[in-house]
Amino acid sequence: MGTRTVTARRSTGGAGGATARTVSLGLLSDKSWPGGLSARGVDLGNGSLVATLDRYYVPVAPRAKTRCIDGRHDPGLDESALGPQVPGGAPGSALAYRLGVDKDDLTRGTFTGDAEMMIESYLRLGLSPGGHRDNRDHSDDVGCGAIDGLHQVLDCMIDPTLVEDHKRLVRSILDADFNRDHYLRVLGAGLVLRSRSEGYFAGRGDILDLLERKAPNSISVLQGHHQEALVVVNLVPGTTLSSNRFAAAHDGAQAFGYDLWRSRQLAEMLFPLPSHQLDRERFIHARVMLTIATLMALTDGSLSFLIRLPA
Ligand SMILES: [Zn+2]
Repeated sequence: MGTRTVTARRSTGGAGGATARTVSLGLLSDKSWPGGLSARGVDLGNGSLVATLDRYYVPVAPRAKTRCIDGRHDPGLDESALGPQVPGGAPGSALAYRLGVDKDDLTRGTFTGDAEMMIESYLRLGLSPGGHRDNRDHSDDVGCGAIDGLHQVLDCMIDPTLVEDHKRLVRSILDADFNRDHYLRVLGAGLVLRSRSEGYFAGRGDILDLLERKAPNSISVLQGHHQEALVVVNLVPGTTLSSNRFAAAHDGAQAFGYDLWRSRQLAEMLFPLPSHQLDRERFIHARVMLTIATLMALTDGSLSFLIRLPA
């Protein structure tokens, strides 16, 4: 990776007065990924992004509904009460649970059943689930790329031509926590599940109706087109990206914001006992692996990639 530019600057005065450090890892990839979304020709200036990103991070509101990483405009967003962002919102965690943790036979179960279990867990643990549609017409899809594209996400995760790129990015996000055995285990589970993905994902569009029933007003409707130009993985607990404000200040260029701290917190809450250590680690591996595969399915790899760390 000799050609990639790594810049790190300290900036203070971010969310809650906490000090964060943003690290630029250049572009997601030098290869061409299968997704259609591209940031080629978009130059936000990596140096200034690194220096100014904290202006768009705010403390999360404890009861605010979980948001997706989707960078599109949410007209219903309450700027004073933002919830954390994870791929696919609360239902998005369900597949990570299935691939990383579930002890069931992989030839059984459905995404809808897994997502229902995850939404119930959120409610039991006092977390506010959330998900979204968009305002376009869809026949079968719900309008959330992290849920509609799950077939393609699994395809990307097990694609032999993408696996080295995939592993590189998962490793750069998990850093010292990366575990090759967990990685290969989740990859293998994905391969088995992919062989019956028609059955597993059948009826997945119903999950948002179910979410709405179990947690009224938890569904957002996003507007406009995808114009994400960067991906930020945020590791500063209790903070999240003001996605509307970021796009408004960058000429419509949007950010995929993933609050990985929330996935770690969820893992601690789902698997709280000392004997659950492996489940926690595997859940986080699966969640990060599916996030990278989602970006592979949605983008061509040309987006800027930043990690926001506690200073
Ligand atoms: Zn989404």
